[in-house]
Amino acid sequence: MNKLAKVCLLPLMALMILLPQDAQAQGVSVIIDDVAQDYSQPPVIKDGSTLVPLRGIFETLGADVNWNQLEQKVTATQDQTTIELVIGSGTATINNQEHQLSVPGQIVNNSTMVPLRFVSEALGAEVSWDQSTKTVNITSSSNDGSSVVTNDDMEIHFLDVGQGDSTLVILPNDKTLLIDAGSRSAGEKIVSYLKKAGITTIDYAVATHPHEDHIGGFIDVFNEFEVKNVLDSGYVHTTLTFENYLDFIYDNDIGFEVAERGATIDLDPGIDITVLTDGADENSIGHAHDFSVSLYIEYNDFSAIFTGDAETELESDMVNHYGDQLNAQIYQVGHHGSNTSSTQLFLDHVQPEIAYFSFGEGNAYGHPHDEVVQRMAAMNIEMYYATQGDLIVTTNGKNYSTNQEPQSIEIDDAKKDADESEEHTGLININTADKELLQEITGVGPAIAKRIIEYRENNGPFERIEQIMNVSGIAEGRFADMKDEITV
Ligand SMILES: [Zn+2]
Repeated sequence: MNKLAKVCLLPLMALMILLPQDAQAQGVSVIIDDVAQDYSQPPVIKDGSTLVPLRGIFETLGADVNWNQLEQKVTATQDQTTIELVIGSGTATINNQEHQLSVPGQIVNNSTMVPLRFVSEALGAEVSWDQSTKTVNITSSSNDGSSVVTNDDMEIHFLDVGQGDSTLVILPNDKTLLIDAGSRSAGEKIVSYLKKAGITTIDYAVATHPHEDHIGGFIDVFNEFEVKNVLDSGYVHTTLTFENYLDFIYDNDIGFEVAERGATIDLDPGIDITVLTDGADENSIGHAHDFSVSLYIEYNDFSAIFTGDAETELESDMVNHYGDQLNAQIYQVGHHGSNTSSTQLFLDHVQPEIAYFSFGEGNAYGHPHDEVVQRMAAMNIEMYYATQGDLIVTTNGKNYSTNQEPQSIEIDDAKKDADESEEHTGLININTADKELLQEITGVGPAIAKRIIEYRENNGPFERIEQIMNVSGIAEGRFADMKDEITV
């Protein structure tokens, strides 16, 4: 890039910072009835929802579209369904019935973008998100015959219980595991959620540790469902909630076990559930979190790790015992995203693709803590927040999909910080620049930009700018042209 172009880059980058960060392309693909969609304006993720160009989505799903420029209003009609959506409005109507939108329709680069999931579901299509390929899969209602219901799926339901944890695991053979039950006030929600899911029996209830935000809801659950076994941390806590919980187990002859490292929970022959931590006994020293029951669930190629409120010390202990065997695609973030947990050491061994943060909006602890979020953003871990609602991960032991798109706000904040620092140096950070910005580098077109992004996704961030020569298409000549424009 010559001197003139570099000078011009500064106002351009300032402009990009003014634009909503997440309104930029993030490499999301959309497949409708097995056909990959090619949009003039690439799909974007905004506040955890994918937006796509208006015409593309409505017309592919067989709806007629009418755009009223003056009112900025979209009207789409398909058979008996009429959808009305005004750009910038948080609600839309389906047959005159008002619905809340997760994200309003908006104009991006002159394209009118609408929330994909809302539009698809309004038109009777099924929507799922495949994290590994960052793909939204849509099956239109006219294509029902092709969707095959399989029995060998495992589902993990991360419930939004405000400040607290509760995770339901439904195994392929329909046996159930409930890890924690939130606080007392969450009991009712958990009970109704389980009932709606058609559950009558909990085969294993796991109380990671006796704090109220993890065991408070168990009394409601015990009262409504047959609970066969309880796995406990062995840590004795002198609270009424804990006493009630123990009394119920004792009075109702529920099986009671204390965690033992290496023990397994054998519920489904296809699924390995391993206990990673030892429980407390009368000689144990430490506080409740030091004995937080941690579990590793493995289904062929798929794995997930749950650590309750485990903190630094217990995390290192797991690393010492298991090392890279802790590697898992899904990580339930320890201690609600507190900086007592999710240490770099632990994350380096787990290397999750998805992290789920369970915390309540505006909680007094400031969860999730910034440093944890930044740490994960730097590792390109997709983050999901309980404040977005329940997260369901479904897996067949090979692939997995989620019912939501990841939260993007915090990742974007991290990016914004990086972009702002670029504004000062005038250099482009090859670890954080998106596809557009990368193309500002001399010699980088769309194809090489894509390869740079793929490279850092597969290999982690570049440590030195010279490593960009590992990306195919960038040899010494090209590197010489760009080396004064880039940084890490
Ligand atoms: Zn907790």
